[in-house]
Amino acid sequence: MNQNSLLQQYFGFHSFRTGQEEAVGHILSGCDTLVIMPTGAGKSLIYQYAALVLRQRAKDRAAVTLVISPLIALMKDQVDSLQALGISATYINSTVSPAEQRQRSAAMLEGGYRLVYVAPERLRRSSFVEALKSVDIQLLVIDEAHCISSWGHDFRPDYRRIAGARKELGSPLTVALTATATTLVQDDIVQLLDMPEVKRVVTGFNRPNLSFEVLYASGAHAKQQELILLLQEQFGTKRDNTGVEACIIYAATRKEAEEVSSFVGRNLSIPCAYYHAGMAVEQRERIQNAFSTGSLAIVVATNAFGMGIDRQDVRLVVHYNLPGTLEAYYQEAGRAGRDGRPSRAVLLFSPQDRSLQNFFIRQNSITSGQLYQLFQRLESLPVEGSENSESSAGGRGRLCRVPELGRSMGWEPQKLRLALAHLEKAGILENAEFALFGGEEGALHLVLGDWHEESAKAGIRQVEEYNSHRKSQLEQMSHYAQADSCRRAILLSYFSDYSKAVELSADRCCDYCFRQGLREGLRRKGPAAGAEPEANLISRLSRSERAALIVLDSVRQLAENGIRVGRQRIAQMLSGSNSQKMTAGFRAQRYYGRLGVLTGKQIEGAINGLLQSGYLQHRNPENTDATIIALTRQGSEALELREAISLKAFDGVDGLPTQTTQASRGLPAGQTASAGKGSTTAETLRLLESGLSPEEVARERDLNVRTISSHIGSLIEQGRLDPDDYVSPEVRERVEKCLRQMKENGSDLSRLKPIKDTLSPSISYDEIKFVLGAWRRENGA
Ligand code: ADP
Ligand code: MG
Repeated sequence: MNQNSLLQQYFGFHSFRTGQEEAVGHILSGCDTLVIMPTGAGKSLIYQYAALVLRQRAKDRAAVTLVISPLIALMKDQVDSLQALGISATYINSTVSPAEQRQRSAAMLEGGYRLVYVAPERLRRSSFVEALKSVDIQLLVIDEAHCISSWGHDFRPDYRRIAGARKELGSPLTVALTATATTLVQDDIVQLLDMPEVKRVVTGFNRPNLSFEVLYASGAHAKQQELILLLQEQFGTKRDNTGVEACIIYAATRKEAEEVSSFVGRNLSIPCAYYHAGMAVEQRERIQNAFSTGSLAIVVATNAFGMGIDRQDVRLVVHYNLPGTLEAYYQEAGRAGRDGRPSRAVLLFSPQDRSLQNFFIRQNSITSGQLYQLFQRLESLPVEGSENSESSAGGRGRLCRVPELGRSMGWEPQKLRLALAHLEKAGILENAEFALFGGEEGALHLVLGDWHEESAKAGIRQVEEYNSHRKSQLEQMSHYAQADSCRRAILLSYFSDYSKAVELSADRCCDYCFRQGLREGLRRKGPAAGAEPEANLISRLSRSERAALIVLDSVRQLAENGIRVGRQRIAQMLSGSNSQKMTAGFRAQRYYGRLGVLTGKQIEGAINGLLQSGYLQHRNPENTDATIIALTRQGSEALELREAISLKAFDGVDGLPTQTTQASRGLPAGQTASAGKGSTTAETLRLLESGLSPEEVARERDLNVRTISSHIGSLIEQGRLDPDDYVSPEVRERVEKCLRQMKENGSDLSRLKPIKDTLSPSISYDEIKFVLGAWRRENGA
């Protein structure tokens, strides 16, 4: 059978994906291989396919592919799907009865399976390794291989045992696979496994379908608001789980995961659950199951919600806190969009988060005194009887319950893990069987040696090195969160991926590129060119830009609901004021309290700014003295296009980011709403007539260039500018033709998007605005 028909027949795939064929090729030609491919790229197929070909080559020999994978929960799924493909496979772990384990081991020895999955702690059982010696292991697979390296973000001491076991088994052909490994971690894997001749297949780290965003949210309140906004954008007005794609929210602590989950539950009608390692196993399984099968859409979790998640349609991964390393961040964020569809990775950044991570680092750092303390604690444990028969040291074996050990030392599990690993490395602790870390009973068998001062010191030096490594990793993580440059580029260069990433449009790449696109006035192919769902556009705006749109939208909505009020009421409503003026009608508004981080006065300042730049206007309804606030056409367009409006009133406000590049060169600060509508377009006209380009006017006035375009549209409509100066006759003709047709069809010409969608993408919103100005002037529309 040739390779392609094997691929087709067994897996139902027409072709290999990038990197797969190369990796399979190396394995089949007998080379140890290290595969670094992003999440969802199809790493499993590599070893499953190789396993089939090797077995064919082996003819009737009882050759088996042994897969070491850290997640017992995942094994069943993997094995089930292999069996469904007609490939004999099994797993041997603590979820099956001892009798069944023995039966499966026996069947493995007889060649009954092509693939056998085991957890790494199994290799700590000398009886199991002994048994394996009589098996023909044609291929050893180490999935999630980054767990081997203590430089990696998810070091598991059990993985350390793999190297020794591999040697004992005569160094069979090996493939190690992972999605997240820096070059440092890759080198460590290769060195620890002792594979000097290894072939590396690194397809790059880029995930073009993910967009990376950081939202500044200083303080708990701001974070909650951001989160709810994000979820509303994601889920719209859905009230249940039907057809809903998934979202994972990562929190730094168990307590925070629970709190955020209950907050989301109170504010959103979509069911949401939390997940962390402090929960009972059954409860965790239930949640993971509900999430995988689609009956649960939102999970708020600590990093314990990890590698086993196999849901393809995660559309949004939010980090509620700053993670400790970019590797952890990329791995977790990478759980979004495994199906290749556009998805978002959003980090909510508050500078205070750094101190939490620093605390974790301090908490996990170990002193020599503490190592000795642990040694003494272990020494005080009763020596086990003869039942610990696997221990080479016989009667010196000890048994303890790891959770209790951690508690009695007052240490977090990670710290205990590291300390035990360092004792082991220093030769003080032998033969530890970390049942806990494979998710089994939490029992730890160990054999304790003598305390050597010298080796203990060496262990400490390693710990110190590790701590400073952690600190520099945190440094890089903070740099990412605060950078004023492309986020994707930072991530890729962290992984030493200097390949020129797939050319992405600015709005698909990251929040920085998106804003940069707006700021540089990419007028021809601006980011609002209708390529993306609008919900995605809005969140790429800065917080203050979004706040400006929220003000506009609240004005629109109040009018829609028949509530016509002035500046002060709108500000009270948005700030969530408790004033008696805030009647039930106001409190029922969607935007009530939405800008709670601001005071009423600050919001009034913002409304003034919006009046001044022509997005809002004063109106005096007939027969009243009242002055109400209403949207202008420019304001409706800005809302429709999610325009980035920067407002001085929001500059430097706590909880909102300050605009980076806005020098205060524009209008005198004293200019107020009384300047009213019209004066702002007049100012634009004056500057245009003095010979400035629209971009220069924007810069001069400290306004967005799209605001100036709207002014130009109005000025054309008023007959004060000549459309021919701004749009080519050819474009004008095409747009006018479209407008005529739409009018004949009775279409609504007050909205730009339907017009834009009808036209070729090369025609910009600005051009449409200009032609519309001329059209309205001529047709009185
Ligand atoms: P990884 O382990 O790299 O994160 P998986 O091995 O779980 O990714 O594969 C992700 C998805 O890609 C699976 O649904 C798998 O069936 C699919 N897949 C793998 N290889 C191919 C291929 N050559 N053609 C089509 N789909 C594939
Ligand atoms: Mg995988």
